[in-house]
Amino acid sequence: MSKMQILKGIGIAKGLALGYATYIKTSKPEIPSHTIGKEELDAEITKLEQALDQSREELNSFLQQQDVSESEKEILSTHLEILTDPELIQNLNSAINDELHNVAKAIHTTFEEAIDFFHSMENEIFAQRAADFADVRMRLLRKVMNHDPNPFSELNTDSIPIFTEISPSDVSLLSKQGVCAYIAENCSATSHAAILSRALNIACVAHIPELKETVHEGDYLIVDGGSGEVILNPDDEALDFYAQKLQIQELIEQKQLQLKNTECQTKTGALIDLALNIGLPEEIDLVSKLNSSGVGLFRTEFLFISKEQLPSEEEQYQIYSKMADQIAPKTLTIRTFDMGGDKLSHLIPTKPEANPYLGNRGIRFSLAHPELLRTQLKAILRAAKHGKICIMFPMIVDVDDFLEAKRIFLSCADELYAEGISYSAEIPIGTMIEIPSAALSSDALARECDFLSIGTNDLVQYTLAVDRNNESVSSYYIQHHPAVLKLIRATLVNAAKYNTPVSICGEMASIREYIPLLIGMGATNLSVNASAFFDVKSVIQRCDAKVNMIVKNFDFSTSLPKVDELVYRTLKPYYEEKKESYK
Ligand code: PEP
Ligand code: MG
Repeated sequence: MSKMQILKGIGIAKGLALGYATYIKTSKPEIPSHTIGKEELDAEITKLEQALDQSREELNSFLQQQDVSESEKEILSTHLEILTDPELIQNLNSAINDELHNVAKAIHTTFEEAIDFFHSMENEIFAQRAADFADVRMRLLRKVMNHDPNPFSELNTDSIPIFTEISPSDVSLLSKQGVCAYIAENCSATSHAAILSRALNIACVAHIPELKETVHEGDYLIVDGGSGEVILNPDDEALDFYAQKLQIQELIEQKQLQLKNTECQTKTGALIDLALNIGLPEEIDLVSKLNSSGVGLFRTEFLFISKEQLPSEEEQYQIYSKMADQIAPKTLTIRTFDMGGDKLSHLIPTKPEANPYLGNRGIRFSLAHPELLRTQLKAILRAAKHGKICIMFPMIVDVDDFLEAKRIFLSCADELYAEGISYSAEIPIGTMIEIPSAALSSDALARECDFLSIGTNDLVQYTLAVDRNNESVSSYYIQHHPAVLKLIRATLVNAAKYNTPVSICGEMASIREYIPLLIGMGATNLSVNASAFFDVKSVIQRCDAKVNMIVKNFDFSTSLPKVDELVYRTLKPYYEEKKESYK
């Protein structure tokens, strides 16, 4: 038997599965290149119309199935939108009528333009958009070229398919075949395919170096989407280990489900408000799935970036109101667009900046493009009639910055009133604390704002002057640096003076090691990633009076090793859980 090997990749979707490697040949159809004669025009146009109709019908009937998840619905609806886009349809028709392309070539070249455009943006969100177009193109090509509608019909629960790239509809088909895990050479964690894999519980590991050289067709594999490992030709010991791990995982899932309806409180009885961070509207169904207190951060810029046109007030109103309605009476905290930095949109022409993170970002960008902000605020004001909504502004530098943003909010309400459009102005307005100056002004901000929310991701970046996306300086990006902790504590203390609620929504709140520290510092509201939700909740439930004492008596005017000692030694029993590893 061949030797066992542990291959390390990146875990994209959690889960464990055993099975046989099956390379998926990207069965790209050979596109005929011939031009057609005028007498063939009608027949080719009819083929196109039939393919479009059948594809729309297929998607609509998927959408009506009972077991379709919200994430799947969102993606299928995007594909349906592409299939009904009048401009695209017109281009398809003219590729046949004017350029005399055969129908397959017309589809191929018309979609190619959109795909190339999104690829050229070199941004994950656009790459996702390109993947959506490629997916729809393949659906249409399969129709006009009579390709196998299910290229995975040979796969079963024992198969571990290996893809070069995977599309969202591939993931849907895998799920229908009962496939439990797959490997992708390329797949980013924020792609639609990754989102669907997580929603459909299909484990995925991506980016394994030299995959094709190491794993051969038919090899026996264990895929561990949690650790990002693939075990090639596992020996008996490894099989036993993973069989146990699978059992433990099932037990943890059962245990976590038991946590769903328990109070989120510490051993001393302090209730902690545990909300969710989301970036896509379809993630709203996680609120009831996990029983979170609501949404503590909805990063609206993702919604914005993935569109082909600036989302209109009406479009945004529909999205926000549906989300608020779905989770009512729980709260949906909408952060206004945090554009700039690494989040730029092709829809708004912007001058390149030497230091984008110190430039036109967050509220500065919105104030520089007031129409954009006004459209969003008016949509939110209207949506607030459908549920409980809070608004928060990103990258606020001080109280004047906040008051300027609030003034615009109030004038949007006045405008809606003057137009006789129904809205609700009962919207708490808060600010993110992401810049040291905001933390140092947190007394004035706490006085003016209805709530504060600490964005530790940026607070760390700006306090320690370390680019959060620059791998080469990542050793300086220390979230529990005493300077950062002092700013967090100052914000908590200042807010308490004015009874202003403070939430912590940066990544720190999703890291189990930091929970006893944050609770000990007095945090009562956390907003976390869905994948960390139950983990964080179980640590909260383990915190006792001793945690408060230890942290309260700790002097943060100290060196980093002392804080390391506090976090990684003294507070360890509260977050530690027996974790075994196989090596
Ligand atoms: C933060 O900075 O902590 C935050 C939550 O905002 P983002 O990560 O979107 O910049
Ligand atoms: Mg931020």
